[in-house]
Amino acid sequence: MKLEKLKPKKSLGQNFLKDEAVLDRIIKAANLSKEDVVVEIGPGHGALTEKLAQVCGKVIAIEIDERLVEVLHTKLVDNQNIEIIAGDILKINLPELIIEHGLDKTGYKVVANLPYYITSPIIRLLLETKYPPTEMVVMVQKEVAERIVAKKGAMSILAVSVQYYAKAEFLFTVFKESFEPMPKVDSAIIRITQNIEHETITKEATKKFFRIVKSGFSAKRKTLINNLSNGLQLEKKLVEEKLVSLGFSPNTRAQELGVEDWRKLAELF
Ligand code: SAM
Repeated sequence: MKLEKLKPKKSLGQNFLKDEAVLDRIIKAANLSKEDVVVEIGPGHGALTEKLAQVCGKVIAIEIDERLVEVLHTKLVDNQNIEIIAGDILKINLPELIIEHGLDKTGYKVVANLPYYITSPIIRLLLETKYPPTEMVVMVQKEVAERIVAKKGAMSILAVSVQYYAKAEFLFTVFKESFEPMPKVDSAIIRITQNIEHETITKEATKKFFRIVKSGFSAKRKTLINNLSNGLQLEKKLVEEKLVSLGFSPNTRAQELGVEDWRKLAELF
């Protein structure tokens, strides 16, 4: 089928980038060399895919929409270093795909304009998978980007979840006019760089860390003491003592703590 005849599927977050200058800025931000293998999620019409292939060693692009996969196969047939995989990023066996391509040894990067309806699950998957990318340069909704890179005072479970595994940076805003069809809100490009130290953290420690974080954020308007004592079934006095020992006031709220604070807190329980 011809590209022009394909009706974009809103349900799959199909807002295609039409602004060449933005595509070039993404490529520049990704800072790729011919040594790099890039996994792209949702190549769409292949606009970013083609530009990636010019500057990196290989692009492995995973697309859920069979209609687009067919178009991409035809359009990119001459590009030896692009491999299109038909599939749902949340359902395919990612570690298996990584091993098949030898990326567990060489490492890989993710560069993508993510489908907005599953941004958080995709980022979470990539951070928690057995072989995470060394770096992700991804487009997300601007508001989500701001939440991911938030600092102490404006933290959320999303911010803690990403910053536990990685360093997150806001790179630049992409206005909604750069897409076809035009979405309702602006987007932004962020860079998420894996934090190697976390490889040493055990599964049990991670589980415990997130149990405490989730308890801390359970009721937005309540103080951390209240949330933690309810969630962890502990005496308020005991929770207060631990918080104060870390230098926090009894009125502290979950959004005021950074990842390091949560880690210290988790060690105390
Ligand atoms: N990369 C293209 C661009 O920048 O113009 C398209 C980006 S568009 C925001 C998101 C793309 O992700 C669409 O092509 C959509 O079909 C695809 N997609 C949606 N859900 C997906 C999933 N679960 N797995 C893989 N691709 C998905």
